[in-house]
Amino acid sequence: MNSQTFYIKTYGCQMNERDSEIMAGQLRQMGYQPVNDEKSAELIIVNTCAVRGSAEEHALGYIGQLKQLKDQNPSMRLAVAGCMSQEPGTIAWLKKHAAHVDLVFGTHNLHELPKLLDKVEQSDEMVIDVWKSAGEVVEHLPSQRADGVQAFVNIIYGCDKFCTYCIVPFTRGKERSREIPAIVNEVKALAQEGYQDITVLGQNVNSYGHDLTPAVDLADLLVELEKIDGVRWLRYTTSHPRDFSQKLIDTIAQSQKITHHVHLPVQSGSNPILKRMNRKYTREQYLDLIERVKRAIPDAVLTTDIIVGFPGETEEDFEATMDLVRQVRYDAAFTFLYSPREGTPAARWEGRDPVPNPVKKERLNRLMSLQYQISLEANQQLIGRTELVLIEGLSKKNPNVWAGRTHTNKVVLIDRDPAVDLIDRFVPVRITQAKTFYLTGEVVGAPVSDPSPRRRVELPLV
Ligand code: SAM
Ligand code: SF4
Repeated sequence: MNSQTFYIKTYGCQMNERDSEIMAGQLRQMGYQPVNDEKSAELIIVNTCAVRGSAEEHALGYIGQLKQLKDQNPSMRLAVAGCMSQEPGTIAWLKKHAAHVDLVFGTHNLHELPKLLDKVEQSDEMVIDVWKSAGEVVEHLPSQRADGVQAFVNIIYGCDKFCTYCIVPFTRGKERSREIPAIVNEVKALAQEGYQDITVLGQNVNSYGHDLTPAVDLADLLVELEKIDGVRWLRYTTSHPRDFSQKLIDTIAQSQKITHHVHLPVQSGSNPILKRMNRKYTREQYLDLIERVKRAIPDAVLTTDIIVGFPGETEEDFEATMDLVRQVRYDAAFTFLYSPREGTPAARWEGRDPVPNPVKKERLNRLMSLQYQISLEANQQLIGRTELVLIEGLSKKNPNVWAGRTHTNKVVLIDRDPAVDLIDRFVPVRITQAKTFYLTGEVVGAPVSDPSPRRRVELPLV
């Protein structure tokens, strides 16, 4: 039996986190043990993200640093996986600058990890095995989930939308949905293990099921998942506004379990930019969708993604985005500087019609100041309310503080009572203070959930 150790460094989105859990599951089945520090690992996997240049630079920098470890311990194995591996440019770069890498594989063949590691042992050269396109959906892969009561479940892989700025359709392939019974069985098993906060995942969960026979949709799936005993909160990410149906809005409004956090990436508030982004909706259609969500789910917490400095974005286009943000009043927004991605149409336009960097940055700052003000005002509305909070752990900055989250995804910090362990439990909390990015609160009642079966108990439980 193998008794080697592994460490996985993950960049990027929750889909990548989930892929890392599946790689970890395969390694555990092979007898590998996880370690928390790359220095003591005999196998390191770098699971990369290609969505923006900054994520790529971080991963390449990290891979470069690992050369020192490899020099100290030549029997250590280093693998590069994830979205960057799907890009021809990465492979060329690794061959030229990172000969200490032993294995490169992609997003479509991570289920073959044991076979790939065997290949490495039989080869003196860097093994490169990247599939150009995805095969069938592979079920029943082992997985080593993160601790806690939150679990992520893939429902659809890939993306067919081809937004002109985005690399994902190239790195993740075409859309492939899992069958409802397979997903229901996975969530039932998770609920039996004590996972109560379930997030279903896909690059565009709203197109879930269109490729199945008979075709189904996300609302159909969520209705089935809601029936599962033990599931308390059901979340879904990420949504595309074009496919966010009235049926889904009504399903969320009627549900006791689907949370009222609605993340609807708008990307821009300007119609000409939305058209060139190939988002397939107009500002008016998006605002109509927001109105319908607010009408059906009055306590919905709305969040979004926005790209600033898309090629050709004028001051007028940017003002249209600012105006949309004022109109919608999102609780939070992820704001990004446009980053050209090789092979996408927008990267070619960036060569002809770029927004100068200082202008991009100035616009981003203006947008962030506006959003921060709105986020603070939205959070202030919650002062005095009692919210159910899932305590996720101790604050990273202060071990005397618990950090938790509401069903609407708001972070809540609570002074910790060292006599009790509330981690992984759902607790009523009165909100006492509001900041831009978090709330503070105090526990005002007993937990409404039992202790998690997987929590290592170090403190007395209430
Ligand atoms: N599928 C999701 C969607 O359609 O919103 C999210 C995909 S992507 C991982 C997350 C966010 O990254 C996008 O919503 C977009 O705002 C941002 N993004 C994608 N490509 C980008 C690029 N080339 N430059 C800057 N931001 C980008
Ligand atoms: Fe990228 Fe657009 Fe697909 Fe989202 S919907 S992953 S932004 S191509």
